[in-house]
Amino acid sequence: MPPAATMNRFEASETEAHRRLAAFVTDSIYDYGVARDVLAREGTSTLSPYLRFGLLSPRNAVVTALRALGAATDEVARQSAETWLKELVWREFYVQVMYHFPQVLRQAFNPRLREIAWRDDPAHLEAWRYGKTGFPIVDACMRQLLTIGWMHNRGRMIAASFLVKDLLIDWREGEAWFMQRLIDGDPAANNGGWQWTAGVGTDAAPYFRIFNPVTQGQKFDPEGTFIRRYVPELAKLPTEHIHTPWRMTALEQTMQGVQIGDTYPAPIVDRAQLKERTLAAYRGKRDG
Ligand SMILES: Cc1cc2nc3c(=O)[nH]c(=O)nc-3n(C[C@H](O)[C@H](O)[C@H](O)COP(=O)(O)OP(=O)(O)OC[C@H]3O[C@@H](n4cnc5c(N)ncnc54)[C@H](O)[C@@H]3O)c2cc1C
Repeated sequence: MPPAATMNRFEASETEAHRRLAAFVTDSIYDYGVARDVLAREGTSTLSPYLRFGLLSPRNAVVTALRALGAATDEVARQSAETWLKELVWREFYVQVMYHFPQVLRQAFNPRLREIAWRDDPAHLEAWRYGKTGFPIVDACMRQLLTIGWMHNRGRMIAASFLVKDLLIDWREGEAWFMQRLIDGDPAANNGGWQWTAGVGTDAAPYFRIFNPVTQGQKFDPEGTFIRRYVPELAKLPTEHIHTPWRMTALEQTMQGVQIGDTYPAPIVDRAQLKERTLAAYRGKRDG
């Protein structure tokens, strides 16, 4: 059963699906281009569980989006509505990929990236699953999933990149955990998102692109509002320390009431050492 917070948040009815769609296209759709990446805001439609389980048809969503596009009053609003429409198209794209290439459920779409030497590290996997990596933005995203059964799209990319590119753990481990925990868990979209992040899929992010969780946090949660919401141990930290609490001196930690390695985990990896390891693992198979 999903967490209680999930059920309160996503009332399971067609009426609610249509209410959300109507509310979104009245206003938020015209700001979606920017708001969609702000972790602390509800800047997206939150329609994914409704689309996933057929409480809202994608055709209905597309027609409504096209109408909103037609009603846009300026170029920014028009582009925002178009961006949202494109997300619905991504959904359809991954459905098609899964239909025509069902093997993606078991392996990378790209045959040259099927044999990467992933690390088997149960302790790191567990830390990632439960939001205890010591990287506040990753932990906040993973705890959002545990708390409400849903994760912001930017959060999914940050958390997935950390598992695959920083910890070098098989993307299929992350895919399985998301399917277990997401209220919108969808085999096609989830698989597509994981293969995209891992850089092994159809129209994938390049394999050498590695998200930096600190700069991602600074960019998409600049005040640390989202981190404070989901990582209460860090709630009282001033913004200057919220993305890199491990850099505080012992005195600063005492003054802020946070002990790194005790009340909040120390970073489980030293990122400065990781990039080469990841690139070597990917290159080994690309060039081989
Ligand atoms: C690693 C990873 C795993 C993901 N797993 C899932 C999943 O299991 N189920 C799921 O529905 N989406 C998944 N997504 C896509 C996306 O994160 C969610 O659809 C989105 O966050 C849902 O929030 P929303 O309804 O507010 O989206 P909005 O931004 O309002 O988008 C509208 C709708 O478009 C579709 N959509 C948006 N982005 C994508 C995308 N990148 N790929 C496919 N469809 C998209 C969804 O149906 C969504 O409800 C995943 C993305 C990543 C990176």
